Amino acid sequence: MQVYLDNNATTRTAPEVVEAMLPYFTEVYGNASSFHQFGQRAAKGMGSARQDAADFLGVTAEEIVFTGSGSESDNYFLKGVAARAGAGHIITSAIEHPAILRTARFLAQNGFQLTELPVDGQGTVSPDDLRGTLRPDTILVSVMHANNEVGTIQDMAALGAVCREAGVPFHTDAVQAVGKLPINLRELPVDYLSASAHKLHGPKGIGLAYLRRGSKAPFNLIHGGHHERRRRASTENVPGIVGFGKAVQLAPEEDYHRERLLRLRAKLEEGISDIPEITILAREAERLPNTSNVLFHRLEGESIVMSLDFEGIAVSTGSACSSGSLEPSHVILALGYDHAHAQGSIRFSLSRYTTEEEIDYTLEKLPPIIHRLRNISAL
Ligand SMILES: *Cc1c(COP(=O)(O)O)cnc(C)c1O
Repeated sequence: MQVYLDNNATTRTAPEVVEAMLPYFTEVYGNASSFHQFGQRAAKGMGSARQDAADFLGVTAEEIVFTGSGSESDNYFLKGVAARAGAGHIITSAIEHPAILRTARFLAQNGFQLTELPVDGQGTVSPDDLRGTLRPDTILVSVMHANNEVGTIQDMAALGAVCREAGVPFHTDAVQAVGKLPINLRELPVDYLSASAHKLHGPKGIGLAYLRRGSKAPFNLIHGGHHERRRRASTENVPGIVGFGKAVQLAPEEDYHRERLLRLRAKLEEGISDIPEITILAREAERLPNTSNVLFHRLEGESIVMSLDFEGIAVSTGSACSSGSLEPSHVILALGYDHAHAQGSIRFSLSRYTTEEEIDYTLEKLPPIIHRLRNISAL
């Protein structure tokens, strides 16, 4: 049996998405900037995908720029706002994805001031902490909507309100939230947002950057032609954009899947709770319905990943971007666990395609693996 429980790393491209994209490789392959019919048909497909994405987020099509990835959107906002300001203070959180954290630290090495807000044991950023760290020279606040490793959802309304009060632009990396949570940017006090298609059953290599109308545009990251209303040069990835549009069209179905996901995750966590010496992370927090991160005490996550993979079950330790190194996850350390405990973390992330049989199979294979590994563990 093949069981894919690593959907926060990437998701299966929905067959409907692939089908919608195909004609844009083989028939409607024009450059969307070209005047001829080949180009205009591509531009039309791209335009309706942009409208679908805008409708889904509760914004207008003019407020959306397509980028090459979620990471690019994150880099665009941080570096673009920094370049525009020239100097100043940036606030982010200690549990951000590396696309934010490493970009912010890069800026800190190049003359900008940086505050990384701590989180509590559930992974929550406190709006009062944010208020306390704002400075007159703060140029940007960036706090992720939902965490990719443990699933904690932040109070966007409260954090955004603090930024509004201070007149500081508020960015959120919503890559894990878009498609999993209802988001209405007409109501949320968010100025800039990053998303990525491949986390919601769309294709890889296509991202989205939302800029609220009236907000200052960051300096461009990629200079060249006049694409994307002059915000990002390079011939548009029309099949990718069309795929993104289809993925958001399918996303409202997540509401129907939500109850199912919560039930499957509850079943998984109940089963895992029968294993001694485990901790389910961020269990008290408001969490993404598909995410469960478990610490298996006295074990290293990598050996669990390998043993599960041998049985056909795909999971990950912390974030995929840091696997391959034995450095414990910065997210789990930020939650207050020590190095030894943080080593044994396994993230299970489900999707609309996850079945009950797959959870049963996982619960059959996992306990004996943990038992065997603990018997040979040196920790
Ligand atoms: C996956 C992910 C990203 C990066 O998106 P890519 O499109 O893979 O570059 C950024 N932030 C979070 C929270 C993510 O989960």
